[in-house]
Amino acid sequence: MGITLLTSSLVLVVIALSYILLEYYSFKKSEKSNLQTVGLIIASNSSAAIAFDSPHDGAEILAALRANKYITAAALYTAEGKLFARYPDDLNTNSLPKTISEDGYQFKDEYLEGFQSIRQKNLYLGKLYLRADLTRMQQQIVLTATTSLFLIAAVLILAFLLSRFLQKYISRPILELEKTARFISEKGDLSVRAVQRSGDEIGTLTRSFNMMLDQLDSKNLEIHAANEESLKLAAIVESSGDAIIGCNLEGEIITWNQSAERILRYPAEEAIGQKVEFLVPSSEASLFKTMIKDLDASGGRKPVETILVRKGGNNPDISLTLSPVKNSHGVLVGFSLIARDISIQKQNERILAENEEHLRLATQAAELGTFDLDVRTARLVWDKRCKELFGVEDQDEVDYDNTFAKHLHEDDRDRVLKVIDNLLYNRFNNGDYDIEYRTVSPAGKVRWVRAMGKVFFDEYGKPLRFIGAVLDISEKKKEEIRKNDFIAIVSHELKTPLTTMKSFVQILLSKAKIAADEFAINALSRTDAQTNKMTSMIKDFLQLAKLEEGKINIVKGEFALCDLLQDTVAEANLLSSSHSIEVAHSDRGLVLADRDKIGQVLINLLSNAMKYSPAGKKIVAGCIREADHLKVFVKDEGVGISPEDQKHLFKRFYRVDNEKIKHISGFGIGLYLVSEILKYHDSEIRLESEEEKGSTFFFYLKIQESPH
Ligand code: ADP
Repeated sequence: MGITLLTSSLVLVVIALSYILLEYYSFKKSEKSNLQTVGLIIASNSSAAIAFDSPHDGAEILAALRANKYITAAALYTAEGKLFARYPDDLNTNSLPKTISEDGYQFKDEYLEGFQSIRQKNLYLGKLYLRADLTRMQQQIVLTATTSLFLIAAVLILAFLLSRFLQKYISRPILELEKTARFISEKGDLSVRAVQRSGDEIGTLTRSFNMMLDQLDSKNLEIHAANEESLKLAAIVESSGDAIIGCNLEGEIITWNQSAERILRYPAEEAIGQKVEFLVPSSEASLFKTMIKDLDASGGRKPVETILVRKGGNNPDISLTLSPVKNSHGVLVGFSLIARDISIQKQNERILAENEEHLRLATQAAELGTFDLDVRTARLVWDKRCKELFGVEDQDEVDYDNTFAKHLHEDDRDRVLKVIDNLLYNRFNNGDYDIEYRTVSPAGKVRWVRAMGKVFFDEYGKPLRFIGAVLDISEKKKEEIRKNDFIAIVSHELKTPLTTMKSFVQILLSKAKIAADEFAINALSRTDAQTNKMTSMIKDFLQLAKLEEGKINIVKGEFALCDLLQDTVAEANLLSSSHSIEVAHSDRGLVLADRDKIGQVLINLLSNAMKYSPAGKKIVAGCIREADHLKVFVKDEGVGISPEDQKHLFKRFYRVDNEKIKHISGFGIGLYLVSEILKYHDSEIRLESEEEKGSTFFFYLKIQESPH
């Protein structure tokens, strides 16, 4: 408002001044021309008075000037310059000019005066002097100035009032804008907005102000988010297990996280500000230089294995990555070092390399072939010796179906593939593999080998890798075959006389019963039981021989498992006087199996339970339904089996070497047969046992259908 008033008053003053000046000059000009006109008239009128030398006439002519009250003095001078007449009469002659001057009028302080020549037909007669009072002009100017002043004042008051009235249309939105701005700057709250009241420039200003606030607000949010992000990043850097070291372009360390402190043992205060080269041992200096040089090269940087300096020595092996740090314009401003301590990994690698070398030497010395099957990709790797054992050329590629399976002896193929299938996909086993089979080379050469290995599973029980070694056992096998043949022949030869013996014993027994010869009945019953025992032993031997040759014949049929168990228990009870076996559970269920062979399994388990528990101890057998399987168990309270022996129990000819059971005779083939027979039934023998407490042997068979 001040500006408006000042501007208007300045304009008004300039106008008023110009007006006053204009008036002053035009007044002067008109005064001068008026006086000239009056002068010309009086001069021409008074020429006669001077010519005729009549001062009286002259005075009269001058008296006519009375009509013009502003002319305060007038005089006529002769050609010689002598005063001729004056006006007014009482005018003091001293106030008149003493000498005459050129024609023309000049302004003097408060009046205008001048001379006019008096002529008659070119004859110079004298001069007229006129003086006009200028106070009128001054009064006029004073009046004009005062009026102007009043006018200016009035206009200014009007302008003031008008501005006051109009300002609300201009200042209010500006004031509101100012209030909003102040609120924001004081409270820092960017969510408030100014109200737009019009569509004019101020409205546009408000809109722009609000838009600016919007942008500021969103920028603020972005900055906030970026801040949070950088806080998070800082926390990640700080908690990272890797040393993360930030450097500027000069290579000076500017950040140093906790892991840097832990791995390199320098506290942050010691490291920050130093040149990063102090961490690089002289042996690694050139590598580091190349890494720095390649810093700006495009493409992913690979970690490099190196060594960094650790405070106090024992420099760690490090996997080091150097990355450029760029600003938002993509200009390189520094670089970061990410150092992972790989000392332990390196040490393990060294140990592993040594172990591998030992293993390589050992396998070489033992002439072991090795295999490695990646189950997920089905990629099979054989070493040279393994290829040799299968009769495959060293340079040939191998795979599971076309090399391994194809080179198995056809009598062994199904058995071996089934075992491996079970090993990989049957969740019950622990992945251990130990098997003997024959390989056939393309030229027809047959070799007996023993393969041992292990399957490794992931946490979901899925097979990952199957690795192991293969050993040529052809020589040993030939020996065994000879032994087996011998056993088979002997067993077979023993069987015939035993059968004859058994039939005579039975005839004698029935005769003794008729004769009621108690002694004979007793003696013959025992002989019969012993003959049965011998028959069962010979049966085991024959079975073993068949198994070894892979000639075991499984004839499956449906039968009720618990009936078989009860029959077998009854038979065993008949044979034994020292123990009585109890059948605790007999859940019903049909199974599809070789009744004879499963019977053999049960006899073996029951006779072991009796053999390896002191007389009179309890033996319980049973058949329990669990989901769609029948679990058969034989539980005794005998000597029990140590965990170490449990591992080998099902191997051929394995017998526990123990003082307590030294006197108990046996061949160590019963449990081997049990285990092998169950394998042919997609099952396995398992046991829970504790020394001195007793053992429970059990196995599962799948139920065919429930009897109604
Ligand atoms: P054998 O009984 O002819 O020695 P087996 O193969 O039947 O052969 O048994 C192997 C070994 O397992 C036995 O020598 C014995 O030490 C141990 N064994 C088998 N069954 C039991 C059992 N129920 N309790 C304790 N030890 C047993």
